[in-house]
Amino acid sequence: MVHLSKGDFVWVESSDGVPIGAEVKLTDTGQLQLIDDEGKEHKINKKTEGTIKPMHPTSVKGVDDMIRLGDLNEAGLLRNLLVRHKEGHIYTYTGSILVAVNPYQLLPIYTTDYVHMYTDRRLGELPPHVFAIADSCFFNMRRNRKNQCCVISGESGAGKTESTKLMLQFLAAVSGQHSWIEQQILEANPILEAFGNAKTIRNDNSSRFGKYIDINFTPGGAIEGARVEQYLLEKSRVCRQAPEERNYHIFYYMLMGMQAEQKKILSLGSAAEYNYLTMGNCTSCEGRDDVTEYAHFRSALKILMFTENDSWEISKLLAAILHLGNVKFEGTIVNNLEACKVNKSSHFNMVCQLLEVAPKQLENSLTQRFFTTARDSVTKSLTSAQAVDGRDAFVKAIYGRLFIWVVDKINAAIYKKAEGSDEVQQSIGLLDIFGFENFKKNSFEQLCINYANEQLQQFFVKHVFKLEQEEYTRENIVWKHIDYQDNQHTLDVLANKPMNMLSLIDEESNFPKGTDTTMLHKMNQVHGKGGIYIPPKNNYETEFGIKHFAGEVYYDSKGFLEKNRDTLSTDLIELVKTSTNKLLKQAFQNQLTTGTVKSINPRMVITTSSSLRQTSDAKKQVPTLTGQFRKSLESLMKTLTVCQPYFIRCIKPNDFKKPMLFDRELCMRQLRYSGMMETIRIRKAGYPVRYTFDEFLGRYRVLLKTSLCDPKKESKEKCCESICKTVLAKGEDWKTGKTKIFLKDSHDTMLEVERMKELNV
Ligand code: ADP
Ligand code: MG
Repeated sequence: MVHLSKGDFVWVESSDGVPIGAEVKLTDTGQLQLIDDEGKEHKINKKTEGTIKPMHPTSVKGVDDMIRLGDLNEAGLLRNLLVRHKEGHIYTYTGSILVAVNPYQLLPIYTTDYVHMYTDRRLGELPPHVFAIADSCFFNMRRNRKNQCCVISGESGAGKTESTKLMLQFLAAVSGQHSWIEQQILEANPILEAFGNAKTIRNDNSSRFGKYIDINFTPGGAIEGARVEQYLLEKSRVCRQAPEERNYHIFYYMLMGMQAEQKKILSLGSAAEYNYLTMGNCTSCEGRDDVTEYAHFRSALKILMFTENDSWEISKLLAAILHLGNVKFEGTIVNNLEACKVNKSSHFNMVCQLLEVAPKQLENSLTQRFFTTARDSVTKSLTSAQAVDGRDAFVKAIYGRLFIWVVDKINAAIYKKAEGSDEVQQSIGLLDIFGFENFKKNSFEQLCINYANEQLQQFFVKHVFKLEQEEYTRENIVWKHIDYQDNQHTLDVLANKPMNMLSLIDEESNFPKGTDTTMLHKMNQVHGKGGIYIPPKNNYETEFGIKHFAGEVYYDSKGFLEKNRDTLSTDLIELVKTSTNKLLKQAFQNQLTTGTVKSINPRMVITTSSSLRQTSDAKKQVPTLTGQFRKSLESLMKTLTVCQPYFIRCIKPNDFKKPMLFDRELCMRQLRYSGMMETIRIRKAGYPVRYTFDEFLGRYRVLLKTSLCDPKKESKEKCCESICKTVLAKGEDWKTGKTKIFLKDSHDTMLEVERMKELNV
């Protein structure tokens, strides 16, 4: 039994299974009383006595680097974040990995003063901050002449996008004198967010696409340009929104902010009048002023070199989408077959006018399908339900293409290729990609998103656990292996093994007779017994599961192939070809040149061997959504692999978007699946910073006391060791390997600080 006295802190058992901190207090009558971190009282009696554990002093007030925690267990970790969150300290280090808990309130810690304060200071010199990570990226890029990247992860609403913006803000500020290019890079964001962000139940400004921003610097450290890569915009949102959710911001901005005369030309009214904007029964977003946002959006367009005309053409397409959503179809019977016709309305007329197509052609391509078979050509009427689906597919294609066109246009303004200089550009990449998703109903989109997250987790695992421990072995560092959750196996089943899930999906998509059911059968057959894929319970179920690193997720296979094929009927493609709308045609350019498929050429169908996909047949394949996504992810991984990585783990403290509310269970779950516990263990025990003896001496020779170690007589190894012995306090844990010196993150900081002192003298 722990001896308790007033003011002590202890751990007590909690209903959620993870011990909670509690303080010993006195009641009015002078009795000892235990009040836990959530204000609940715990009885002190015979039954509970044995479960009360003393708290390590580091856990009482919390520490700013978790590797310094005395109670290195889940309870300690969780409480550390909790007490810091309570005090308004949202940032905490684990070595050089930053944990950021969303404060859900504006904190006064992002001012110019803070930018100055964190400029050119080594990590750990000041309290943890996202600016410190940005500064560290900038410093290491120049010191190590190596590209840097920062992988920002977390669930929807955890704070990834805000962190990315803060990193950008800092880099723009330290790199130069507020030049034009920096302003352009910063102002790309409001445009991207207008088109790609929306209010969801989880986040009022949820990014519905992934992005990687690569910022290029001159050798002198000034920003030269940047490039944005986008991933997998959620196109379905343009046509449908869940309850309490909105369509993309841009629609509401436009309807609220656009001048009356312009709206009149586009025949636009208010958001409530459009089917595409009212599915979620929510047209406004608390705390977001669509009028102001529209003004900001418009000025950002100017900064990014969109002309007045570009801007007008964009509005025309957006208006066409809204009108299309209000076009209705009426079922009829023609030759004893179900058919439909368009209900002519002002909306239909506006669509024709805005898309610059002939009414008859628009009607035909919306209500009929034109087929060519080996013998002749056939026109088939669509039912009104099919017509609605076709219309929605058309709208999704327009919006998706428009988004890509906008991103390309932004890149045209900000991306400057290094020309004529021998010096290679250096860069810092910021990855802000959709977090792991697990909803009540999950579909193809969630599978893609979660696949991306498996990739990123593997990147993290590889960097933090695998490569690190391999290097210790190689360098003969005495080391007790640290176990970690490796998700490589899941990734193999998903995307690497022969006949992996993604290639099975692709294969069925390319197979004319393939259906969601045949796809499911194949997955059952190939992966049913592997333990990662969870087959449906019976033949009628359409849901299959996958054991992801972050938990099991069940996906409904219905609609998978359709979504993956992502094709538009040839009739609609042909329609676009007849249009005189330049932006529409430009946006469809890719699609027009590569062509789409209505009837899939049987020669393109591959056999059951999915490995064939990668061989010569690949070119003839219809590019599927997974195919494209996979390619862009693989290229991203290649980029990341050659960078020195930083990680920011964003944590969402509660589901209510509320400040000062820390939901222990929710946070614990996020910490668990991100592997935070193991990360702290390896960061505490390990040596994440390492230099070859040459590199080390090259940089820190100024710190060598020649009286202690004469470089003329002693080996490089001995000189390195001598420097460490002098600079790092006694008893500090650093190691010498065969060719390298191994250090803690804090040692790197100490050495840099001493070096600066030495050089300034
Ligand atoms: P994610 O991109 O991870 O989905 P966001 O970055 O969009 O999440 O953050 C969601 C919301 O949380 C933001 O709109 C903002 O209101 C709030 N938020 C996130 N980070 C911060 C921060 N550092 N300071 C203040 N508010 C924040
Ligand atoms: Mg986001």
